[in-house]
Amino acid sequence: MDPGPTPLRCFSECHPAEMFVDDGVETLTSVEQKKVEHSIEEVINVYKQIHSLPQPILLREQHYQYLKKGLRHLSDAYEVNVYVLVCQFLAHCQSPTGGFAGGPGQHAHLAPTYAAVNALCIIGTEEAYNVIDREKLLDFLWSVKQPDGSFVMHVGGEVDVRSAYCAASVASLTNILTPKLFEDTTNWILSCQNWEGGLSGVPGLEAHGGYTFCGTAALVILGKEHMLDLKALLRWVVSRQMRFEGGFQGRCNKLVDGCYSFWQAGLLPLLHRALFKEGESELSRQRWMFEQQALQEYILLCCQNPTGGLLDKPGKSRDFYHTCYCLSGLSIAQHFGNMDLHHELILGKDDNRLAPTHPVYNICPERVAQALQHFHRLPAPEDPRWKGDSADNTPSDPAPDATASGSDDQQS
Ligand SMILES: [Zn+2]
Repeated sequence: MDPGPTPLRCFSECHPAEMFVDDGVETLTSVEQKKVEHSIEEVINVYKQIHSLPQPILLREQHYQYLKKGLRHLSDAYEVNVYVLVCQFLAHCQSPTGGFAGGPGQHAHLAPTYAAVNALCIIGTEEAYNVIDREKLLDFLWSVKQPDGSFVMHVGGEVDVRSAYCAASVASLTNILTPKLFEDTTNWILSCQNWEGGLSGVPGLEAHGGYTFCGTAALVILGKEHMLDLKALLRWVVSRQMRFEGGFQGRCNKLVDGCYSFWQAGLLPLLHRALFKEGESELSRQRWMFEQQALQEYILLCCQNPTGGLLDKPGKSRDFYHTCYCLSGLSIAQHFGNMDLHHELILGKDDNRLAPTHPVYNICPERVAQALQHFHRLPAPEDPRWKGDSADNTPSDPAPDATASGSDDQQS
């Protein structure tokens, strides 16, 4: 007999008991928190009134149309032509001094460099890979490397742990990662982990979901994640999932926000693997260590614009950034494991299923494997500042097999 759809957590009688209690001390923060909970309660109540059988639906077609409108001038192009045009556009964004800029003629910056390399790896054709000038990219990475091991986002720009992740991500994907380039980077990132357990943007500040993901993922690429206080990090990140809302906050005492569905929940696959490697015996073989269903409920009920696109929280407007990271977080919440051990938890109909995403690079695991295979056939470019043994040029396992997800290739 068909057991029917999974009962929703937010429909259960105990759910209101998860609401915030201010212990009689009202603050600006507690008032904001209650306002958000109230708006979410309303969303849930409206949903309850119109759906006796709860089956939250991912508005796939609407999101697709919203994103397609973002690709200006490409409205009726065939997919293959879109890819060709994207390659050509990104080639124009590549700086003559290496790396990619936010637009043609601008200065190279690590964030668009990360985005461009990921986009080219998603396209995954010879033409796409060939856009990347690896020798110049290595020059650019050296130009933003600092003597203490950190990186600035662009020449003359700010230091924070995002830059270490962007640099490690593009260097590992394109096989230009040298030990010298990342000398002292591990220690610098480790110094960003504070007493809370999470990581801050630079040493000494407040722990923050985006920076914590970036720092942890960079250490995974460098093969040094075991040097973090993993248990403290685990305690910090699981405490960032909101009891009533089901989504994650970015920092302690802040409001829920859909984009942290990836930055925070995306840490759990990295931690699961790191703790497994450390010999932790109590790890589940079916679930990440967060409430996967609660996160899916938050994204599907509270973060979808009915005409397409996803958002921070009810009342906020949609944008491409939140569309990307809500969907990436939804994918993490749906898929546990890797190719050998894969367990799905899909809230709602099977149509809601997204493709798995690679927890380090946040693109499809097959695309990561394909890019690594392609670039590892090419020789590592001569590093002018690295005169060491070339055998040491190989990065430690850049593709964490235990966290790379399954091979089903449904489009997200
Ligand atoms: Zn956000």
